[in-house]
Amino acid sequence: MATHIVVAECRDGQLRRVSLEAIAAAKGCMQDGDSLAVLLLGGGDGEATASVSAAAGLLAQRGPDEVIVIDHPILGRYAPEVHLAALLAAAKALAPEARWWWLGHTAIGRDLAPRLAARLGAGQVSDALAAARGADGRIVFTRALHAGKALERRAFVPGAPTVVTVRPNNFAPAAIVAGPAAPICSLPFNPPPSRIIVRDVVRRASGAVDLAEARIIVAGGRGVKSAAGFAPLAQLAALLGGAVGASRGACDAGYCDYALQIGQTGKTVTPDLYIACGISGAVQHLAGMSRSRVIVAINKDPDSPIFSVADYGIVGDLFEVVPALIEEWNNG
Ligand code: FAD
Repeated sequence: MATHIVVAECRDGQLRRVSLEAIAAAKGCMQDGDSLAVLLLGGGDGEATASVSAAAGLLAQRGPDEVIVIDHPILGRYAPEVHLAALLAAAKALAPEARWWWLGHTAIGRDLAPRLAARLGAGQVSDALAAARGADGRIVFTRALHAGKALERRAFVPGAPTVVTVRPNNFAPAAIVAGPAAPICSLPFNPPPSRIIVRDVVRRASGAVDLAEARIIVAGGRGVKSAAGFAPLAQLAALLGGAVGASRGACDAGYCDYALQIGQTGKTVTPDLYIACGISGAVQHLAGMSRSRVIVAINKDPDSPIFSVADYGIVGDLFEVVPALIEEWNNG
């Protein structure tokens, strides 16, 4: 029986990268006698079931001791009560060993983790940036506080269950392990009657790359001045294989959808490269992006606070600098 359970997530038939990162985080905290199971929920029509089994195959190569699949048509679309019931069914099957539950800090993970923790009587850690096992057996989790200005460390003892969500892009994803893949088994599930039935999911139009998991983000602020002004930013993002983000100033001005907002009241991102165009760098914006690995700021005001967190600063007009970057990339 597994002591660590990673709850993997598929969206639109694709395994989310953060699930591999959660596996790495869990593996980094294992000690003698621990074992790791990856739990995958999904199902639906033939195509959905095929993508669940493809995802299970990918997960089995990343070094868990087993992959457990709960495949049921009702799990094809996220509904909190039903997905929670599936997790509780797994918890019952894996009790009493299952102690550490790892989820991605995604919209679904954020919704499920506290529900699961409450039902298991477990402790909960949200949005973990790091996790390490101490010599005394406790696992110490690091989280950001006060809009990223401070870090706290919380230690959890192994005895009682703990539910953790890990921030995307903070752990290197678990690599493929040589040797035979882990066994894949399935767990039967009788869904309870649910008060919520999800009949359809209508998505807002968004770029090809998911903002929360993007390795490169080109973000625009009020300095972009219009919705049309975002076109060169989108072009640069597409060239770099990245995603477009925005400040709240740009969203409030109606230049782009709030789904792109980064910051305290928007998404938290940790890309390898964050290019801020026409963003002043208000503390609420920094809260969502200041842990990016490399920050490039393009702003025509040399005193703009964004330069205080930037690794590279370009003082200039974004409408000249961004096309120049695109041209340089195309010529390079
Ligand atoms: P501005 O502050 O107006 O900055 C525009 C910048 O563009 C300026 O620095 C200017 O020099 C530059 N510029 C103008 N023209 C050009 C040009 N042609 N070329 C280059 N540079 C140019 N904000 C967020 O972003 N995310 C949040 O989640 C968030 N949550 C908030 C929560 C609360 C409770 C509150 C009170 C505020 C929140 N805000 C948030 C708002 C935040 O305080 C700022 O108002 C907002 O971030 C400003 O957006 P901005 O930088 O795009 O606009």
